[in-house]
Amino acid sequence: MDLAQFQKLFDKEPRYRLGQAKKALFQDLIQNWQEATELPLSLREELNKKCPIELSAKTFVSKDRNTIKALLILKDDLKIETVLMCHQDKRNTICVSSQVGCRLGCEFCATGKMGFKRNLDVWEIIEQVLFFARYLKKIKERITNIVFMGMGEPFLNYQNVIGAIRILNDKEGFNLGARHFSISTVGIIEGIEKLAKEELQINLAISLNASNDKLRSKLMPINKKYPIKKILNAIDNYIKKTRRRVMFEYIMINNLNDSEENAKTLANLMKKPLYFVNLISYNFTRRSLGEGGPTGIFKPSPSLRIKKFKETLEKEGVMVTQRYRFGKDIEGACGQLVVKDRRK
Ligand code: SF4
Repeated sequence: MDLAQFQKLFDKEPRYRLGQAKKALFQDLIQNWQEATELPLSLREELNKKCPIELSAKTFVSKDRNTIKALLILKDDLKIETVLMCHQDKRNTICVSSQVGCRLGCEFCATGKMGFKRNLDVWEIIEQVLFFARYLKKIKERITNIVFMGMGEPFLNYQNVIGAIRILNDKEGFNLGARHFSISTVGIIEGIEKLAKEELQINLAISLNASNDKLRSKLMPINKKYPIKKILNAIDNYIKKTRRRVMFEYIMINNLNDSEENAKTLANLMKKPLYFVNLISYNFTRRSLGEGGPTGIFKPSPSLRIKKFKETLEKEGVMVTQRYRFGKDIEGACGQLVVKDRRK
């Protein structure tokens, strides 16, 4: 949907009409403007013609039914993926994409191997949320958290990501509290600095994955531009300004970044107030076992090594959590589904 066009349609209507339309779209979660019966028929018809809201997607459900992955088809036939993770404590988190593909080429990520196509616009980001909000409505549940950890680097599409968050956070709109949003970045410093100035209490995560620049640059080429020290300086300034906690994500890859020495170097970097580390097992897929796909070179660390790594961090006084592995049988890692579909 073209948001400017949407706004334009309401310019000639009484003010309350826009509120009615937003309520129908974001709270009643209608799938077609004809369902918005508070609006006059002629307006509904015009909205359907100029601002259609139907969504089409292929979905894939994990065996434990806790994870659903949707492959959404965009207006130019490009595809993006969005994942719904249903936690046992009733939280429903969706992981949204911010770009089609990604130009940063992280070694462990299938999206990085796809190359970059384009940024998503504000509405295309919102559509991912609406798709799963409509799905959850049918089972009387709702989205509780939105994380920008899907395809793409959110800070390289800063304006549209923040624009979508503002609409989803709007009380008249989707009305999800700011603290329920998280942005994960490789450490684009300009983005961290801009976010510190926004009056939005959203969460920030840094995808760190290595405790020294040599290894991080090998895994994430963008580290040459934004090395660890520069990122941590930017984070310290961010914390000074916002007083908010920052999460450092660390994907555990077998025999690469999971040694005792790696844990100790990481602990030295992370021993700061309001820093915390989230250990993530490298997603275990057929391709990561070596079927020759783009992520075929890595394997996840064994769980015992992750446990030991975590204990070392804790002993050093670092706050650390471990993320449950969602959707491994539906290729739940970043970008894997789209790559698979393109091959077909
Ligand atoms: S991990 Fe994120 S930033 Fe790196 S290539 Fe994948 S999508 Fe891009």
